Amino acid sequence: MKYRSTRGSPKLFSFSEAVLIGLADDGGLFIPQKIPTLPLNWRTKWSKYSFNSLALEIFSLFIPESEIPRTDLEVLINKSYSTFKHERVTPLKKIRENLYILELFHGPTFAFKDVALQFLGNLFEYLLEKKNKNILEGEKQKITVLGATSGDTGSAAIYGLRGKKNVSVFILHPRGKVSPIQEAQMTTVLDKNVHNLSVEGTFDDCQDIVKILFSDVPFNKKYHLGAVNSINWARILAQTTYYFHSYFQLLSSLNISPTSATSSNIHLRYVVPTGNFGDILAGYYAKRMGLPIEKLIVATNQNDILDRFFKTGRYEKIFDKNNINIVHETLSPAMDIVVSSNFERLLWHLAYETIDDVDDNGVKIVKDEEDNDHMKSNLAGSIVNNWMNNLKTKNCLVVNKSQLELSLRDFKSTRISDQETKDTISRYYSPKDTKNQIPYVLDPHSAIGVAASENQDNMSENTYQICLATAHPAKFSMAVKESLKDFKDFKFEEILPKEFVGLLEKERNIVHVERADPELVKKVIEKELEIELSNS
Ligand SMILES: *Cc1c(COP(=O)(O)O)cnc(C)c1O
Repeated sequence: MKYRSTRGSPKLFSFSEAVLIGLADDGGLFIPQKIPTLPLNWRTKWSKYSFNSLALEIFSLFIPESEIPRTDLEVLINKSYSTFKHERVTPLKKIRENLYILELFHGPTFAFKDVALQFLGNLFEYLLEKKNKNILEGEKQKITVLGATSGDTGSAAIYGLRGKKNVSVFILHPRGKVSPIQEAQMTTVLDKNVHNLSVEGTFDDCQDIVKILFSDVPFNKKYHLGAVNSINWARILAQTTYYFHSYFQLLSSLNISPTSATSSNIHLRYVVPTGNFGDILAGYYAKRMGLPIEKLIVATNQNDILDRFFKTGRYEKIFDKNNINIVHETLSPAMDIVVSSNFERLLWHLAYETIDDVDDNGVKIVKDEEDNDHMKSNLAGSIVNNWMNNLKTKNCLVVNKSQLELSLRDFKSTRISDQETKDTISRYYSPKDTKNQIPYVLDPHSAIGVAASENQDNMSENTYQICLATAHPAKFSMAVKESLKDFKDFKFEEILPKEFVGLLEKERNIVHVERADPELVKKVIEKELEIELSNS
């Protein structure tokens, strides 16, 4: 299995390259050369597998044994998910007939990004260790992971990378603009390789600085900058596991044996609160591999570029009168985006699948299967390239009718307002029909998915909806408290995990950066690295 770029450069990359480089040099994202299909006996063989065993089977389809031997991969997976607090890692909970919640927040930072970043941290360390084998101390390759965060990604990255050998991590956050719990989560990690830069400025300033430093060739070369942002292929791969795992949990809860489950007695829909399109994209790959998913439902907040795309075929940024990209601040900040960075991967597949490879008589234009794939891939890459150019220069890209129709075979979309989010949190905390529905405290992101599940049509008694719960409600306490303020019996302390108790008072590890200035940040990074090195 090799990887290619979505922008059409014909070069192929190994899995390790794709993970360590992150972004292809033509600006494209890495995608697998071919989507693997499941082994014929997957249903029976995998149905009783644990989360970790499933991850091992799935990852093995994407990672050649020659790059990571199976026994090593198994160690990496076990290490990554040993930090999760639930024995099933991502448990599925039924709250009503045909409606389930898939809890993805049992990792160290209480949000779904841990599923990917716990694995990515170990993977980085493993791949570097391998590269550095037989290399003298002092000449070993180290990487400096650099990122900007408004909350969730930063803390998940820090918990994924803390204490890892040959990895230093610098996370920039806008000073005073991250929720207190999230700030405390990031800055109370005291490992020497973790550096929190608290920048006097906005999240956009932080992001701009990160971009500038990545494109600063001498600086980048000297410090081997690495990224853990949501476009890293390993993150998508790691997220496919819970689609399979929840499918088997569903069958078991319905008492349906894996051999008698068909796509006619189970119409399975996943509802996914979506921002950068990484979480749901993993579901798309699971479906393409052969997991019988009827539909993937994209649930957006008011930042609805994806919802507008699936309704019109136009992927369009919007601006205010001062020509600034509009990002609405919502109750679900982890989904407040201008564009969805992983969407480009879906665009590539839409382009590829709609290229006519037969002439008017139905005869293949290029006879050889491999040549045909080569021709189509290159063409798809140039189509994506054009689209991304249009997005950059005209702020909009438009797919044709057949491409939009193709996307709607797999996806549907819904947009949910802040008011609906609050109403949903309150209705699920205190359901009217307590005989048939179990009360549940949703976080605002998860509530968007659950609200979207209520807006669906063509439901039958065989339709099962699994809503992905992406964060623990205590993490977004303001929105939850506000939504439940009329319930006198609701006590926030009762849902507060013990890890959060006293967190705000703990010792902090922060470096203040007084100006949002890339040169100043470079100086701070160099100084911090020097201190880190002298302490190790
Ligand atoms: C990142 C995040 C999302 C959005 O996931 P994407 O992969 O960016 O679509 C949703 N909810 C929470 C809590 C998140 O942290």
